[in-house]
Amino acid sequence: MSELASDIQYLPGVGPKRAALIKKELDVHTMDDLIHFYPFRYLDRSSITPIVSVTPDLAYVQVQGRVVSRNLISIKHLSVIVEDGTGRMEMVFFKGVKWNFDRLAPGSVWLFFGKPQVYNDRINMVHPEVDAPQQDTSGKGTLTGVYPSTEKLKAGGVTGKTMCKLQRSALALCLPELRETLPDYILMKYGLPSLPWAIQNIHFPSDSHALAAASRRLKFEELFFLQLSLLKQKYVRSRASQGLVMKHVGPAFHACYNALPYALTGAQQRVIKEIRADVSCGSQMNRLLQGDVGSGKTMVAVLSCLIAIGNGYQACIMAPTEVLAQQHFANIQKYLAPTGVQCALLTGSTTQKERRPLLAGLADGSIQLVVGTHALIEEPVRYKALGLAVIDEQHRFGVSQRAALWQKGPLMRFDQRSGAWAPVSVSERPAIPLEGVQGVRTVRDQNVPPHILVMTATPIPRTLAMTFYGDLDLSVIDEMPPGRKPVQTMLIGTNKLPAMYRFMREEIARGRQVFVVYPMIFINEKMEDISNVEQGYEDILKAFPLEEGYKVAIVHGQQNNEQKLFNMKAFVDGRAHILVSTTVIEVGVDVPNASVMVIRSAQRFGLSQLHQLRGRVGRGAEKSYCILVKDPKTGKEAQQRLELMCATEDGFEIAEQDMKMRGPGDLEGTQQSGLPVDLHIASLARDGAMLEEARSCAQRVLNADPALTEPRNAVLLQELRKGKYDFKNYSNIS
Ligand code: ADP
Ligand code: MG
Repeated sequence: MSELASDIQYLPGVGPKRAALIKKELDVHTMDDLIHFYPFRYLDRSSITPIVSVTPDLAYVQVQGRVVSRNLISIKHLSVIVEDGTGRMEMVFFKGVKWNFDRLAPGSVWLFFGKPQVYNDRINMVHPEVDAPQQDTSGKGTLTGVYPSTEKLKAGGVTGKTMCKLQRSALALCLPELRETLPDYILMKYGLPSLPWAIQNIHFPSDSHALAAASRRLKFEELFFLQLSLLKQKYVRSRASQGLVMKHVGPAFHACYNALPYALTGAQQRVIKEIRADVSCGSQMNRLLQGDVGSGKTMVAVLSCLIAIGNGYQACIMAPTEVLAQQHFANIQKYLAPTGVQCALLTGSTTQKERRPLLAGLADGSIQLVVGTHALIEEPVRYKALGLAVIDEQHRFGVSQRAALWQKGPLMRFDQRSGAWAPVSVSERPAIPLEGVQGVRTVRDQNVPPHILVMTATPIPRTLAMTFYGDLDLSVIDEMPPGRKPVQTMLIGTNKLPAMYRFMREEIARGRQVFVVYPMIFINEKMEDISNVEQGYEDILKAFPLEEGYKVAIVHGQQNNEQKLFNMKAFVDGRAHILVSTTVIEVGVDVPNASVMVIRSAQRFGLSQLHQLRGRVGRGAEKSYCILVKDPKTGKEAQQRLELMCATEDGFEIAEQDMKMRGPGDLEGTQQSGLPVDLHIASLARDGAMLEEARSCAQRVLNADPALTEPRNAVLLQELRKGKYDFKNYSNIS
């Protein structure tokens, strides 16, 4: 058996018991896992700061000193005084008190790593990381790796030192066996060191340059394979899936276009061109359209649908909620008026009576465009020739829906003479098998999937988009229609509520409407928004009584469909002055007359969610406001996020900042699934430039050798087959 595949328990000094502990705590099972388990930082002997020069503005410092005294201030508060000959400093622990009390005996020397701060006019560090002092490394380099660890590991005797020892033995056994994963031509082109060298130096760097080179190589490898895997899927799919060819633009498109009350923005025009090129090229389109709230995605969707219709196909537009579907339908019908295109609405609450003619119209093709919810892809719905599906707000669209959608594509037959696919008419179904007929090439009718356009208003940093949507083509509307007014954003505390109510009354007196949004609260994974929003509703009713002519609507997750629709409609139609709700209104709802967005407990929302909510106002001609109300106990980080909201309206900037502040794993939209792949060393937040480099490298490799069959690319195929870079969750996006 190879060393790499063998169990860590056979390493000297491990054994079954420690092995079990390591497996459980670190998910490290084999030698191969172990040598790919990297330090997360390095102790640098040359960078120990004398206590006298520690100042609170330093981000992190490392001091080495002798314990002078340790004082248990309470069972949850340990204070340790340390000195290093230049000065004294206090180390404070509120966790692991007993463990630290025991080991930090007076007289012992330790390395402390942490963030210095000022407390009572003195500098201290709270919860510094504590390590054994650096021994003389006899010229072997001054950097020692620090591995992620847990209390249990330390208690089980697997200390930092043990880990270093284990890594040394594992490397000695495994490095000779470790195969290069990148071909020479790539290593040379990007100036990357070999894999064994990089692994050796990521654990035991000879100096900081070696560490940088090793880390660059390992990050590149990770990002490169991630992109290679994504792009390969895309290539395979685009070759495997026959696409419907839509050569014309058609009269409906022109009729709609010519009647538009405004000119398309440059970005809208560009995106429509991209879509046209996609649908006419013969392979299936899978395109993600990203555009901030209000950037005019609907128009692009409608014009795309009209292209499909102009080529004899049908199109559907699917919205995540019933309210949105209705709103889309109402808007779209206006655009369609000059075209003569037949359009219908199909949702969960379409009655049986309405349903029958509607389904018949879809099956015989007399309905050319249908707008709706998930009902559009449910079983009884059959299309004569669905050519394009537009999905608005992708994140609520899952794997099974995608599969269902593909099945809705038209039945096509390959026509030998013209060399193209042609629709099989409904009367001809079921398909006639041509197999076995003498002299005829075996051809079967097959469902050709419709082209797919996914639209999202959630701005995602480019690096994330390249990863989450790495297998889709990306179009971006990066330009707002002219005339949008900036939304003035304010941050207030709950003590300012009376003033805010006064302001709301003034706006209402001027004929405007107001959103008041409460966060959804989850308790035990169950949605418990109700108490919160209902309390809020009571408060608003008190401040805006019916007797004074105020009308308040309320929408939340626990209402049935009918209640929701009724309340939403009251607000959309302008009958209610105020809409109190949870985030159900987050996506898409268009009420141009609403000029104020109040967000309660704003600190509980993520940045992109706040951005989405704010996008609900500022859609009309009036000056609009977004009032973020924070609760008294808002933390520092949350405060920063809210301040950022006040500072900018640029969705992409907000998304970038959000990712920097919280790391990519915490971004909304990704939260449910986490990152789709495990990255060991690269970071989507910090390694954006390298990601671009890795992606273009992967692109070039696949352009030259799409199936990776060239001998020089054999190692790449081998590495991909290990499945490490398979995308866990990519289907949840389209
Ligand atoms: P979103 O991208 O958020 O779906 P919409 O498609 O709802 O945005 O468009 C927002 C508003 O902008 C709509 O009222 C729409 O009529 C208007 N709009 C779209 N395109 C343009 C344009 N090129 N010029 C002016 N207004 C536009
Ligand atoms: Mg929209």
